[in-house]
Amino acid sequence: MHPEIMLAHGAGGQLTRQLVDDIFLKYFNNEALKPLADAAVLDFPGCRLAFTTDSFVVRPLFFPGGDIGKLAVCGTVNDLAVSGARPLFLTVSFIIEVGMPLNLLEQIARSLGESCRDAGVKVAAGDTKVVEKGHGDLVFINTAGIGIIPEELDLGQHRITPGDVIIINGPVGNHGLAVLLERENLGLETGVSSDCAPLNGIIAKILREVPNVKMMRDLTRGGLATAVKEIALGAGVDIWLEEASIPVDDAVRGAVEILGLDPLYMANEGKFIIFAAPEEAPRVLKIMANEPLGVRTAIIGRVAEGKGNVLLKTMLGGTKVLDLLAGDPLPRIC
Ligand code: MG
Repeated sequence: MHPEIMLAHGAGGQLTRQLVDDIFLKYFNNEALKPLADAAVLDFPGCRLAFTTDSFVVRPLFFPGGDIGKLAVCGTVNDLAVSGARPLFLTVSFIIEVGMPLNLLEQIARSLGESCRDAGVKVAAGDTKVVEKGHGDLVFINTAGIGIIPEELDLGQHRITPGDVIIINGPVGNHGLAVLLERENLGLETGVSSDCAPLNGIIAKILREVPNVKMMRDLTRGGLATAVKEIALGAGVDIWLEEASIPVDDAVRGAVEILGLDPLYMANEGKFIIFAAPEEAPRVLKIMANEPLGVRTAIIGRVAEGKGNVLLKTMLGGTKVLDLLAGDPLPRIC
């Protein structure tokens, strides 16, 4: 263990996992927290709730395709949605630095409100704290959210079995690249925007038609590769991904090659994967491809017997082993 916190402890990869395992779970683990899923699933008499929280420290506050306010809604709504829940209420906490221009704060609040309306959720409680100049970075936002999970729904890695197919709703890497290019003056003109969007609409349609899908996960920090690796480890299976099938926009592919980044490890804010039995995949694909947030839907891989390996069949015909994200190539992208 490193004796001090580094940016990579917040990257959602190996070091985040170590921090959670070695420090946080050591002191406050329990049955609800233990699965470390996108949202906790809480059983109450007569209903099942999904409950989640997320903090947003993105820099800069505004970027092509979004801002910290939109992100704070989508991030939490999407964690509820991939847990099978209908998102209902959020809490919003602002930690604001002295000197934050009020007009910027208002722009962020407006965007946050619009995103709530888009996603069909309401802010039910909030908090405002102010810290001295130099003790924050204009504004940080925390959101928590609750939603109701339909009684009959059973989603989770326990349902994944060899033969299942993995479907994604569109190209990866756009969010991470859009934020990076807005922050650093790299002289690259790509026109790439963040994919930041609430996924509860498209997910509700899938669950209505094909409630027997097995598991979903949104592809935020750590990207597609880290999410798939975590699922492979948790489910005790191997997962094969097909590089040629994974959608990546040409502009993203070109830029990441120059920058030495891997789109499979880059954050997204409007992408998710879904595991389904092969006989149900065609129906899932059809529903997704008819949705604005799923026009580039593709089958990207398959589950096989194994022990938690993720193997990428590369475009050149080789095989590459994918692990959890190491280090933090793109800090503070959400
Ligand atoms: Mg998530």
